[in-house]
Amino acid sequence: MTPVDHAEGWNKQRKKTATGWYDNLCRAADPDQVSNHMRRQQPMRSVTAYATSDRKAPFHKTTIQRRDLGPGDVLIKIAFAGICHTDIHTARGEWGDVIFPLVPGHEMAGVVEEIGAGVTKYAVGDRVGVGCMVDSCRECDNCLAGEQQYCLNGPVYTYNCIGKDGRPTEGGYSTHIVVDQDFVLAIPAGIDLDVAAPLLCAGVTLYSPLKHWGAGPGTSLAIVGLGGLGHMGVKIAHALGAEVSVLSQSLSKQADGRRLGADNYYATADPATFKQLKHRFDLIVSTVSATLPMHSYLSMLRLDGTLVNVGAPLDPLSVPASSLMDKRLRLAGSSIGGIRETQEMLNFCAEHGLGAEIEVISADQIDVAYDRVVDSDVRYRFVINTATF
Ligand code: NAP
Ligand code: ZN
Ligand code: ZN
Repeated sequence: MTPVDHAEGWNKQRKKTATGWYDNLCRAADPDQVSNHMRRQQPMRSVTAYATSDRKAPFHKTTIQRRDLGPGDVLIKIAFAGICHTDIHTARGEWGDVIFPLVPGHEMAGVVEEIGAGVTKYAVGDRVGVGCMVDSCRECDNCLAGEQQYCLNGPVYTYNCIGKDGRPTEGGYSTHIVVDQDFVLAIPAGIDLDVAAPLLCAGVTLYSPLKHWGAGPGTSLAIVGLGGLGHMGVKIAHALGAEVSVLSQSLSKQADGRRLGADNYYATADPATFKQLKHRFDLIVSTVSATLPMHSYLSMLRLDGTLVNVGAPLDPLSVPASSLMDKRLRLAGSSIGGIRETQEMLNFCAEHGLGAEIEVISADQIDVAYDRVVDSDVRYRFVINTATF
């Protein structure tokens, strides 16, 4: 089988969902096909994980199988795994099909425990991380440009996806993972593993659009939502030299926002905020997990301004045409970042002394943490300590 055939082979296993876009974000497989593959594959390495077996079920301790090391593979002992709101959208079936039992987690940091015979990038003992992708086709224009997150054949996401071996991928709520070296990131000295883990998704999801749209000295920008993604956006945008405003539902986290680097802080529950901030920003990045009245946020942009949406609510974003035309505005989206850019972000964070603000939890607190994230009661990322498994 040529590499192209191989890529097409695994891509054909995609199952269409009602919401086509999420099919790409969160590729799910035909359950029969999955179990056939599971039966064909020999279990290789049993590791402990936390899984949920249904969209309403609590997490439970379980054992999963990780593949044996191929020549380019790295076995990572995971120390910490962040809880991203995407884990919750997925586990609760908000985006469509889920491969249960599901082991979420795409923000993990740990140490290399073993390497395959052909591994050149990492050695045993290295501090490493894994984010939202564990592979991609590597041949399409976007992969060749280093933008694997936009792989035209769909990246292999870290969980709830089908790997090139035909088995469901399982994420970071586990003690170990096996990942091809090309999708492993080096965590620079100076960032502790617990505060590094959330950078692998939250960090790069904000770093990428901030860099792409040129945030820096002279840019007036707003971050909407001070949660896991939003708080990293404030830190990174401040370090890039931009003037940073936070648009939060209330002023309850104002002191934190300013400590993290915000110059200004506004409550969107107060209608006066939208009047006061009309024509104020060059760039707005929305990290909100719910649908927002887009026209109100667009009204805060200056001529030629851009609103980048990275939040992923299920419902469509509704935009009156005139709210874009009036000031030649752009409404854009952005998905995580490529592997090269993720490494660049980690190096940037190390240089600037940036890590996530975290609350470390034990495995038995995952369900409570999910509810608290949904209630916007997170300061600002829950990180699971896998030593509690
Ligand atoms: P999070 O920690 O829950 O943060 C979201 C924040 O949005 C909340 O803290 C809250 O901030 C605000 N918010 C929540 N509900 C709201 C509502 N009804 N109205 C207005 N504001 C509301 O979640 P996260 O982990 O940062 O993820 C945020 C979203 O990004 C999720 O939908 C996730 O799936 C998506 N995501 C996308 C990518 C990508 O590549 N594009 C990557 C990762 C995650 P305040 O309390 O400050 O208002
Ligand atoms: Zn995420
Ligand atoms: Zn590709």
